[in-house]
Amino acid sequence: MGNSMENLPPISNQKPTGILQELDLAHHVHPFTDQKVLRSEKPRIIARGEGIYIFDNDGNKYLDGMAGLWCVNIGYGRSELATVAKKQMEELSYYNTFFQTSHPPAIELASKLASLAPEGLNNVFYSGSGSEANETNIRLVRHYWASLGKPEKSIIVSRKNAYHGSSMGAASLGGMQPMHLQGGLPIPGIIHISQPYWYGEGRDVSPNEFGLMKARELEEVIQKHGPEKIGAFIAEPIQGAGGVIIPPDTYWPEIERICRENDLLLIADEVICGFGRLGSWFGCQKYGIKPDIMTIAKGLSSGYQPIGGSIVSTKIADTLEQKGGEFNHGYTYSAHPVAAAVSLENLRILEEEKIIEKVNSNTGKHMGERWRALGEHQLVGEARIKGLMGALELTPNKLSKAPFKNPGQAGIITRNICIRHGLIMRAVEDKMIISPPLIIQKSEIDELTDLVWKSLDIAQKELSLKGLLVS
Ligand SMILES: *Cc1c(COP(=O)(O)O)cnc(C)c1O
Repeated sequence: MGNSMENLPPISNQKPTGILQELDLAHHVHPFTDQKVLRSEKPRIIARGEGIYIFDNDGNKYLDGMAGLWCVNIGYGRSELATVAKKQMEELSYYNTFFQTSHPPAIELASKLASLAPEGLNNVFYSGSGSEANETNIRLVRHYWASLGKPEKSIIVSRKNAYHGSSMGAASLGGMQPMHLQGGLPIPGIIHISQPYWYGEGRDVSPNEFGLMKARELEEVIQKHGPEKIGAFIAEPIQGAGGVIIPPDTYWPEIERICRENDLLLIADEVICGFGRLGSWFGCQKYGIKPDIMTIAKGLSSGYQPIGGSIVSTKIADTLEQKGGEFNHGYTYSAHPVAAAVSLENLRILEEEKIIEKVNSNTGKHMGERWRALGEHQLVGEARIKGLMGALELTPNKLSKAPFKNPGQAGIITRNICIRHGLIMRAVEDKMIISPPLIIQKSEIDELTDLVWKSLDIAQKELSLKGLLVS
């Protein structure tokens, strides 16, 4: 059998791009995509990845400035992960962790995560994704307070323009208006306060003053409803999908103070910031705060397998154990053995190759310098970055930093120019964002930022020609 396996051709499609596009349009409903626009513009077919680069079906090479969807931290094509997946599939391809069962990969990964997480966060509940993990968090927070005889302490405070996933509960926690408008969201018991978005909403005061003002909105909500009604506050250390919103330094310590004084559980959604993005294992460590729950996914497996989870404090885990009774919640693929084994291998690589240390002391610094220099461009109102996640605020008027008259078009035009020139970058309205694989080298950072500058030049001309360079 071994022989016939080795004779199989490698996994690669034999079909020309046009045929694949036709089949895709005929049968594939895409997430976060306008199918009507897709039909006229055709899907990009990505066929291969290696390091920080991806290749489309015609062999065109792109520098992946987004690490897939913020997840391919160790880069594409690491065969060690494939070897581990194969071995695990042969040994125990699947088993569940319900009803008093466990398996070695689930156990090994949980204890590894406990060793990496901040002190006091030692217990893992697994899911298959970040959305599922936040669904778990909603139910876990409410179950926790109910176990302590406080079932009315059930409201969860979140923020406008937050992203916590796409399922009913997770999208309700999120603060994305277009998502709420589809499907009757948010679910009851979620309150949104404003985001700490200084460039967009606070330039009339200093960033630090603004950070305190925004944090204190949490205090106002608590005063209005009563601390006995509010169970938790959830936020991303840095908002990712919302446009890489980096909070002022005063924000997080004030949020933590308010949570502690009012007995709220603090949930850090570390799905993007976790596993090295900011140059530390978790984003909360960069901000010096200690959450009670951390949501994890994406970089946990570097996207090689779908997996997520909630790392919870000893206080929560011990309370649930002492109170007894079943938590009536779980997923068929909670702690999937192949995903868990692959995640362990990913963590080994992150650790042994000192990838996170390098982001912190070396490549992150270089990226910071190069990225901030893009702020000199005529089309850029602000260039902000922390670790390896950054944003550019496009503006038609560098002096006043006014927004565009027709919001969103400059972003899409610039993004399309980037892609045409071999750089995958994402547009959030008129913010251009990046989050490259953490293995990116200094010379590749130069390549990335040179491509951005060149694309901005071309975008500026195109916008001007189309009469779109107006506020
Ligand atoms: C991507 C993301 C999620 C959702 O994760 P999925 O795996 O897509 O369900 C949750 N929170 C944050 C901060 C994310 O960026």
